[in-house]
Amino acid sequence: MSSSSSSSPNKKPVQSTTRKSQTSAAIAANDASVESMAAMSAPSNLHGFELIKEEFVPEYNAKGFLFKHKKTGAEVMSLSNDDENKSFGVTFRTPPSNSTGIPHILEHSVLCGSRKYPIKEPFVELIKGSLNTFLNAMTYPDRTCYPVASCNLADFYNLVDVYLDAVFHPKCIENERTFEQEGWHYELNNKDEDLTYKGVVFNEMKGVYSSPDSVLARECQQALFPENTYGVDSGGSPEVIPELTFAEFKDFHGKFYHPSNARLWFYGDDDVENRLKLLSGFLDEFDAKDVDSSIASQPFFKEPKRVVKSYASGEDEEAQKCFVQINWLLNDKPFDQETALAVGFLDNLLLGSSASPLRLALEESGLGEAIVGFGLEDELRQPSFAIGMKGVEEADIPKVEKLIYDTMEKIATEGFTDDAIEASINSIEFSLRENNTGRFPRGLSMMLRSLSAWLYEGDPFEPLRYEEPLKHLKSRISSSEDVFRPLMRRLFLENTHRVTVELKPDQKLGEKEANEEKMKLSAKKASLSPEEIEHVVAETAALKLLQETPDSPEALKCIPALALSDIPKTAKEIPCDIGSIGSTELLTHDLFTNDIIYAEHLLDMKTIPEDLLPLVPLWTRALGRMGTSKRNFIEFDQIINAQTGGISVSPFVSPIRGDPNAISAYMVFRGKATSDKAGIMHDLMTEMLFDSKLDDQKIFKQLVLETRSGMEGRVQGAGHSIAASRLEAQDSVAGWVNEQMGGLDQLEYLRKLAKRVDEDWDSVVADLETIRKCVSSRNNSITNLTGDSKTLDLSLSSAEKFLGSLNQSASASSTSAWKSMNPAVNELLTVPTTVNYVGKAANLYKSGYELNGSSYVINKLLGTTWLWDRVRVSGGAYGGFSDFDSHSGMFTYLSYRDPNLLKTLDNYDGTVEFLRNLHVDEDELTKSIIGTIGEIDSYQLPDAKGYTSLMRHLLKITPEERQERREQILGTTNKSFNDFAGALEAVRAPSAKVSAVCSAEAAEKAKSERPELDFQIKRVI
Ligand SMILES: [Zn+2]
Repeated sequence: MSSSSSSSPNKKPVQSTTRKSQTSAAIAANDASVESMAAMSAPSNLHGFELIKEEFVPEYNAKGFLFKHKKTGAEVMSLSNDDENKSFGVTFRTPPSNSTGIPHILEHSVLCGSRKYPIKEPFVELIKGSLNTFLNAMTYPDRTCYPVASCNLADFYNLVDVYLDAVFHPKCIENERTFEQEGWHYELNNKDEDLTYKGVVFNEMKGVYSSPDSVLARECQQALFPENTYGVDSGGSPEVIPELTFAEFKDFHGKFYHPSNARLWFYGDDDVENRLKLLSGFLDEFDAKDVDSSIASQPFFKEPKRVVKSYASGEDEEAQKCFVQINWLLNDKPFDQETALAVGFLDNLLLGSSASPLRLALEESGLGEAIVGFGLEDELRQPSFAIGMKGVEEADIPKVEKLIYDTMEKIATEGFTDDAIEASINSIEFSLRENNTGRFPRGLSMMLRSLSAWLYEGDPFEPLRYEEPLKHLKSRISSSEDVFRPLMRRLFLENTHRVTVELKPDQKLGEKEANEEKMKLSAKKASLSPEEIEHVVAETAALKLLQETPDSPEALKCIPALALSDIPKTAKEIPCDIGSIGSTELLTHDLFTNDIIYAEHLLDMKTIPEDLLPLVPLWTRALGRMGTSKRNFIEFDQIINAQTGGISVSPFVSPIRGDPNAISAYMVFRGKATSDKAGIMHDLMTEMLFDSKLDDQKIFKQLVLETRSGMEGRVQGAGHSIAASRLEAQDSVAGWVNEQMGGLDQLEYLRKLAKRVDEDWDSVVADLETIRKCVSSRNNSITNLTGDSKTLDLSLSSAEKFLGSLNQSASASSTSAWKSMNPAVNELLTVPTTVNYVGKAANLYKSGYELNGSSYVINKLLGTTWLWDRVRVSGGAYGGFSDFDSHSGMFTYLSYRDPNLLKTLDNYDGTVEFLRNLHVDEDELTKSIIGTIGEIDSYQLPDAKGYTSLMRHLLKITPEERQERREQILGTTNKSFNDFAGALEAVRAPSAKVSAVCSAEAAEKAKSERPELDFQIKRVI
């Protein structure tokens, strides 16, 4: 729902690199006292609930209770452990019966004001002023989920209260304006202009389906489930969304958003009885209701099917490629616990790493550019499996299918090797022990697991237990029972519920769809009487006025807020000891990591010549991929998975504040392992760096095609990041370097490289070897280790051994010879799309601005007020925000899935006057400050803490400076906002630059309307 982190889990991103195992979301026990938790009993006052079940869940070191609200039947899972990152979620089953996107539009709309919080967008007020560690809403094919998390108890209960009021008493069911804004409406600014559709979800989904990967995912799901609710699009199909009426929308809420259809979740270190008390305050006023929200099963097909569809492609010869994906329905209901675990292993064995046989067979076939398909999908009522390829020549489609079946047949006959099974078991066990959910709160990851059974009348505790079934499965495997081969036969080879989906390019489709929409709209306008047209104009103006009128400060007071006194005055420090290990600088972070060592070794990369920089990402992907001088690729991959939690290599390049010429640039070798395996992990890193083969032409070509295909997908799906990178490349050398390695320049380089690999392979190998030589020196190296003191002690000698293998001689000086930047121009980058991504930027330091912590507060406020209101709410874009990079000084405005282009630029320019005339009252100011502190103090798992501390060291951010910034944040005043208007003049000035990703048509139009901007149009796809 929020612009930057929306998740629409029915649109799973295609995973083409590392895949997480299905069980990785589970949570491993930590060392805290098990007995004290086990002794915990149910509260004495149950506040109208009855206790259905209680259980200690050792895997999560949590005591769990399943309660039922007596009056309504609402079910509550309440888990207690010592995790300070408390989480809550309310989930309703919301099966749609058509593709108008009702559940998705409702998901957006209920967060736009409620009985107790009757303001425009309580959700946005919470983003502004809370310490949340997670705040979002998600629409699935069959459910809508509202999760929150926070480490601060008062803040946590505020979030829960706002969310519960939002779902049970939203204003959107009385006020049609919200439906128009979030769903769809006719827009007509004057009687002479063309009628258009506007709406946040309407535009969000247009953006989604501008990406062929999303079209493929939708077609596959619908083809696999033609007869149940998964056969329609819960997110909404843009051509169908305008069929939705307000009455249907209202009915949908009345039917499904009721306690009798709710599953509520609490997790963390807060009091169990308080949770029930809080819930009864909302639930007691309802009576039980019979809600039919059950999800029907899709009956099994008697024979396999085939579906052929098309997508809107670009004009290039290169762009005329097909997708093919085979999809299987695996069961008529969720798997039982042990089968679920076995199928999770099977999925990991087939596709879990690049050396897994099914993935390897496809990637090395040369039949396509990259893998598509999610493998196992086990979150819905019926599990399914999908695999295929994109970038396939039409004539090769049957070959891809045959390869998939042949590979599966071979595996079903021969089985997996013991080494493959051992590697798979270790990688799954490692992820369970590590329980690393990244930025996603552990409690919510656990909730999603639990729901996979709970939502379908199963036992919510069942998916949380894995130790016993894992032990049982392992003993079956070690007793040499044939676990996987019969599964392969039953699930895939003998399964007739299988759909093959082909997606073919159509150069005319985009235009055809746009024309159909135009004709529909002009027919609509022609059918309106002059009075009716006046009415639409008046309605458009009324909606705009409403959207652009902020809530009064009095109204905003309803949102519960923390006080500044709740905020710690001093910045929290991450433990960091700085020393040395031989000639290498050593940073260590003494943190509890459950016996896992996290290691980063940073090798100087400023020694790499400029012209080889675009080759760096391919070099990192090639390492190990062709095997080493000691073992082949499969053996190398398996030993990494069997012995460690993973090893990766990636470049890091950033400007350093205070010196426009200073750049921090390193090749980062990262690895994690249990402390007893630190030695072998470091040996494998040495092997990877020095012994990796780099001369396999066929594999390298495949890596180039795969990377290129991923980049092309990014231009269409995340154009704002492409635009931002273009702007940075015009401003600084560091920005230019990053553009070479990950922006549009990289894409252009990859296109030429694909040819060069065929024509001049030897020179490519020579360049790859040069890069290896450049980064193999110990000069200027830095090592960063995270773990508790015992883990650190056990790992030091092996880290030293790795460093000892590096080139010790003082080679050529590393003072960077990098000097290039891209010329400053206004650019329009064209791709086949129906939405725009608009960026505009300037460097504030270059025009004299000096960094002050208040800029963080101001930047955050802009993203939730001016830019949110203008670009998203009234402009109809899915997102609009600004970004201030305090290292480089770049201030960048960006929009996301935006129907506008020039109008968005005008809104950006309007920021100056907005800030200059802004009067922020005391409450609003406090909220903005608290929200900003919440962001800079954000919750992190130990590996992330160690890495953050390293980044601060590299970018020369001292504890003193952090404290000074914090004080500046806390001391932000109204005047700070007004003054910042002056700094932002730089982004309004003619010297500021524009970069946008858009359609060719939108580009031509913008160029002719604003000749003074002298837009350079560049076709990308
Ligand atoms: Zn959405």
